[in-house]
Parts: sequence; C-alpha cells; structure tokens
Amino acid sequence: MIFDIDKKANKVLKERKKIAEDNALQNLSLARKNENFLSLEKEENSLIIEIAKIEFEEKNSNKLRENLEKIQKNKDFLLKKLKLNLKTNYFCPKCSDTGIINGKNCECKKRVINQILKEESGMASDFSFDDAKLFSDEEKILFDKMKAWCENFPNVKSKSIFLSGEMGVGKTFLCEAMANELIKKNVFVYFTTAFNLNNLFSEFCRTNNKEILDLLLSAEVLFIDDLGTEPIFRNITLNYLYLVLNERLISGKAVVINTNLMPDEILERYGERIFSRVMNKQTGLVLCYKGKDRRVNC
Ligand SMILES: [Zn+2]
Repeated sequence: MIFDIDKKANKVLKERKKIAEDNALQNLSLARKNENFLSLEKEENSLIIEIAKIEFEEKNSNKLRENLEKIQKNKDFLLKKLKLNLKTNYFCPKCSDTGIINGKNCECKKRVINQILKEESGMASDFSFDDAKLFSDEEKILFDKMKAWCENFPNVKSKSIFLSGEMGVGKTFLCEAMANELIKKNVFVYFTTAFNLNNLFSEFCRTNNKEILDLLLSAEVLFIDDLGTEPIFRNITLNYLYLVLNERLISGKAVVINTNLMPDEILERYGERIFSRVMNKQTGLVLCYKGKDRRVNC
C-alpha cells in the first residue's frame, strides 16, 4: 500500500548513499594494494600531524605545507593512473543522498516519492501530451489548455478542474498525461480511480489509519479518475468525498476530476454539498463535452 511513502523513499535514498560510499571505500582498498599509494598516504598522514603540531605552537609551517601539497599532487596523479576515484560520487551531490536540504525535501527525494506514488497509485502509463492523437479542434484546444495549466502549476488561477462527458481520446488519457507532466516538474501528485478512492475511505473507517487521509489531503494535486463508477457506501462515500474536497478547497490544493456524468447527474448522485465543491466555477475550471458535438463548455 501507499502509506509509508516517506519511509520507502528514505530507503531508496539510503541504498543510493550506501552504493556511492561503498564504491569510494572499495576504490580506497584497491588503491591501498599499491605500494606507492601506501607510502604516499603514510607520508601525507604524518605530515598532516606534524603541521598540526607546528601550527599549534604558532611556528611557520609553510615548508611542510608545500611538501604536503606535492605529496597530494603525486597521490592524485597516481590515482588517475590507476583509474581510481576516492571521492564519493553521490547520486545527488546537492544533498549527498540524504534527501534533505535546509530542512526541506530535496528535489531528488521528491522524484523518488513521485516515482513510488506513481507505481503504487495504479497509474502505470507514461502517457504524455505528445502521445495524443486528437480527433477534433476542440480536443486540441482542451489539451493545450490542460498542458498550459500543468506548465504553469502551481501558479494557476483555477485550483480545480472538472472534466465531464465523452471525448474521443479519453479523459483518463488526458489526466494521466497531466499527472505525468506534473511529476516531471516534481509536483507531489496522487492519482486514483474513484473506485480505489472509495476503498481507501472504507479502509480508513475500518482501520482509522490517518496516513490515508494525510495522503489524500497532502498531495499537491489529487486526480480522481472516473468519478461516478464507484459504489456509494452508506455513511462513507459521500461523507469522506466531501471532507477531502472541502479540506483541499480550503487549503487551496488542486483537484482534477474526470467523469462521464453531466453536472445535473453529479448533483443528483452526490448532493448539493459535493456538487458545489466539484462544480465551483469561481475556484475551478468546469469543462464538459456534451454528447457528440464535443463542445467545451457547460
Ligand atoms: Zn538530493
């Protein structure tokens, strides 16, 4: 399941760090098999100690420092000849594979988290906008609009997108392309079908596992695919769907919903409270394809 993403991401980073450090250690032990390297290393170490002593006594250490520099140059030259690099080549030099910079998640960790989320959210596709074979000019307009939204995110006016009706190329495809576009920008995306979301809600009721709600509330963009295909569980579906949509609306977090249902059907199935959160034209974009004429408006 998806609930220990942070732990999983840290595990990936730890493994990367270990590989980088093991490589450096391995190179060091290979270098130490070389007699010349060993003697240079010995000389270097004793010089370093000597310099420390002399400088502690506030005496001039210039000559010793010159010697040390020479030895280090010789050592570097020898290592080059042996084709051995003793520096640790971290996967991410910015954070040395710790995943943290100034108390915040490094971009590399965000990418790992997104990769894990992508794998575990059931969105297996790598669809991008470039893969779209569009059937009409209206679809092209819609795709361009959604692409621009992703490119501008998080600086977008509409924090939610409601996409309804039938279209030739598929709403799921469009949403997956959007999610992938955002993931490329290291946006924390969670993509779920309405069916899976509903199961998460009932799991939360059963287990009270707070990480479920944390995930649904903390993702920067929540995609809900195919709203309306899930069964309505009494006291669960509507309550938790409202809670998630409302909390995200209040905290200004983005939601992208696609559905085959038309607005009046949303109202009928989910009621006024959810309808007003989903179809809020002030805070979101509401785009409907009505029947076969595929017009983008409601
Ligand atoms: Zn990093």
